[in-house]
Amino acid sequence: VSAQLIDGNAIAARIRDAAQHEAKRLAQRGHRPCLAAVLVGDDDGSRLYAASQAETAHRVGIEHRLVEIPPQATLDEVRGRIAELNADATVSGILVYQPLPAGLDAAAVQSLIDPRKDVEGVQPYNLGLLAMGRDALVPCTAAAAMACLASTGIDLSGREAVVVGRSAIVGRPVAALLTAAHATVTVCHTRTLQLEDHTRRAEVLIVAAGRVGLIGREHVRPGAVVIDVGTHRQRVPGDGSTARTKTVGDVRFEEVSHVASAITPVPGGVGPVTVAMLLSNVVKAAES
Ligand code: NAP
Repeated sequence: VSAQLIDGNAIAARIRDAAQHEAKRLAQRGHRPCLAAVLVGDDDGSRLYAASQAETAHRVGIEHRLVEIPPQATLDEVRGRIAELNADATVSGILVYQPLPAGLDAAAVQSLIDPRKDVEGVQPYNLGLLAMGRDALVPCTAAAAMACLASTGIDLSGREAVVVGRSAIVGRPVAALLTAAHATVTVCHTRTLQLEDHTRRAEVLIVAAGRVGLIGREHVRPGAVVIDVGTHRQRVPGDGSTARTKTVGDVRFEEVSHVASAITPVPGGVGPVTVAMLLSNVVKAAES
C-alpha cells in the first residue's frame, strides 16, 4: 500500500471527544442533549443497532431515549408521536430507525420531524438548505465523507471532485458539500456513459454506489484521494463448518491503494465516522 490510510476510527474518536466536551458544557447549563430514537415495529437489526447507539451516546453524555411504536401503527399514529417529540423541549434530536413496517413510507415519516431536531439530516428542509449552500443539519454519512477528506489536509478549492452515486442521503449531499467547499463537482450514476472517463479526472473521488468492487485501478487518477462509502457484508469461503463474512466496499482496495495518495479502508473508514457524526449532530441540534 503506497496510499496514506485514512483512519476512520481515529477521526471518529476526535469527533466523539468534541461532542462529549460540548455535551458536558450544555449539561452544566441544565440542558443535557437527548436523542429520541423512534423504533416502529420490532425489527431485530434496528433493536441491536439501537442498543449499541445508546451505549455510545451515554458514553459521550447524550441521553438516548428509545421510543417504541407498535408495528401496526398508522401514519396518523406515528405523526402524533413525532409531534409530541417535536414539542418536547427535553428532546434535542429525533431519528427513525429503518426499515419501517410495510405500509409506512420512510420519506413520509421523516418529513414529520421538526427540521431543527432532524439529526440524520434527512428532512426536506435541511436537504434544501444544504442544496442552497446554507448551514444545515447534514446527513451523517455525507458529513463523515467530508471529515475523512478534511483529515488529509486537502484544500478542496478548485479541485476536480467526482461523486459516484446520487442518492438523497449520500451522493447528492456530498456533492452539495463539495460544491460549498469550492470544488468542481461531477456526479455519476447508472446512466453515466464511460464511468472511468469521469472518475479518472478526479483529484477527489467519492464512491457511494452500493456495488461491491465497482472502482478499480483503471478508474483512478494517480494521486487522487479516494473515499469509499460502500459497505457490504460478503461471505468468505471457509471449510464449511465456519461460514464467515467480511465487510468490503465499492472500491477494490488492494488495487486502488497503489495509485491513490490517500484512501479510506472498509471497514474502518467512513463507517465509524458516520456513527460519530450522529452524536455531533445531536449536540449541534441541542445548541440551536
Ligand atoms: P443507493 O440509494 O442504492 O444509491 C446508489 C447510487 O449509486 C445511485 O445513485 C445509483 O445510480 C448509483 N450507482 C449504482 N451502481 C452504479 C454504477 N454501476 N455506476 C455508477 N453509479 C451507480 O445507495 P446509498 O444509500 O447512497 O448507499 C451507497 C453505499 O453506501 C451502499 O453500499 C451503502 O451500504 C453505503 N452506505 C454506507 C454508510 C456508512 O456509514 N459507511 C452509510 C450509508 C450508506 P442511479 O441513481 O442511477 O440508480
